Amino acid sequence: MNKKMEIAVIAHDGKKADMVQFLNKNRDILLKENIKIIATGTTGSRVEATGIKVKKMLSGPLGGDAQIAARVAEGKTKMVLFFKDPSSSHAHEPDINMLIRICDVHNVPLATNEATAQLLLNALLLEE
Ligand code: PGA
Repeated sequence: MNKKMEIAVIAHDGKKADMVQFLNKNRDILLKENIKIIATGTTGSRVEATGIKVKKMLSGPLGGDAQIAARVAEGKTKMVLFFKDPSSSHAHEPDINMLIRICDVHNVPLATNEATAQLLLNALLLEE
C-alpha cells in the first residue's frame, strides 16, 4: 500500500463550524486508509467530534501553525486546508504567514478558503 498522505486542517474560530461541515461533507475521502489528518489543537478537537481520526498539534496561538509549518518543511505534510477568517486579526499572524510561506517554498498545496479546499480534495479523488 502507498504511504499515507498527511493533510493538515486548520480553522480560525469564525470558520470552525464551516470546517466541521466541510469535513462531514468529505468524510468518505477523509476516512480513506491512505489519508492521515493532522490539525491545530482546537480545530483538532472539533475534527475528533466528527469521528474522523486526527493527530492534534498545539493550538494555533500556542504554536500549532508553526508545528504544521515544520512538518511541511520536513516533507511530512503534503497538503494544508486552512479556513482563514479574513474578518478577524490574530496575535499569531507571524506564524500563519510563516506557514503560508513554507507551503510556497516547498510547493505544497495550500487552500485558504473552502472552495479551494474542495477543489484540492476533488483532485485527490481524480488521482486515484
Ligand atoms: P486552533 O488554531 O485550531 O487551535 O484554534 C487555529 C489557528 O488559529 O491557527
